[in-house]
Amino acid sequence: MSDYILETENLGLRYGAFAALGSVDLKIRRGSIHTVIGPNGAGKTTLFHCLTGERRPSSGRIRFAGRDLTRQPPHKRVASGMSRSFQITSLFQNLSVRENLRLAAQGRDGLGALAFWYSDTHRQEHVRKADEVLERIKLTAQANTSAGDLSHGQQRVLEVGMALCSDPEMLLLDEPTSGMGVDDIPVMTRLISELGKDLTVMLIEHNMRLVMSISDRITVMHQGNILIEGDPDQVRGDERVKKAYLGES
Ligand code: ATP
Repeated sequence: MSDYILETENLGLRYGAFAALGSVDLKIRRGSIHTVIGPNGAGKTTLFHCLTGERRPSSGRIRFAGRDLTRQPPHKRVASGMSRSFQITSLFQNLSVRENLRLAAQGRDGLGALAFWYSDTHRQEHVRKADEVLERIKLTAQANTSAGDLSHGQQRVLEVGMALCSDPEMLLLDEPTSGMGVDDIPVMTRLISELGKDLTVMLIEHNMRLVMSISDRITVMHQGNILIEGDPDQVRGDERVKKAYLGES
């Protein structure tokens, strides 16, 4: 088995003449917390969209867990063990936290809410999965609270929980702390660190304190390409990174 759960080769995405992603060769080590940073417009979200299948790359290949996923649709990537966090807008605000998680577990099995073969056994399995995830994300006390009544920070934690319902080997988180208050950020930081003990976590994040404290590896993107990759100490001291953020590069 390869040390790397995800590898991209020459991954590119063009919008007309503009290369939102140039040519990205990325390797994500199994079991690592790997963060992608870079100034606005660097191509971080575009990279995630290509990895999860929401955008079709113009060039290159994506290998995940030993399989070529380049042409696979998003749901097949989820089935292969790659899961992306949902957005708050995809939470069912009037349903309880547990119900939201149960529906995410149900979706993982491709079972629509109205599927006639949705049995009590299925339901029990999905409730069990929801309760397991509730403990993992430490929202057990809020299990019966409507998602809409959670704090913003708790909703973001629930988004991560929804992604965990598909039993991923690798979790992709796009700016998990965006919009969070200072009190909630340590909660998300701890959650990601905990998840990193069992899973590969790839995240895009702007909060440098969080990035430097939890990342095993950091990829810095700039103008659609990888500027450098290294551990937090290597990235922190790199002049090219400072210049990219200051717009001088
Ligand atoms: P941010 O930190 O601001 O979210 P980012 O690094 O995630 O930035 P992307 O959202 O990936 O950057 O965008 C990369 C570039 O591609 C930007 O210049 C953006 O304007 C451009 N871009 C993104 N989507 C499209 C699109 N659908 N059509 C044309 N250009 C696009």
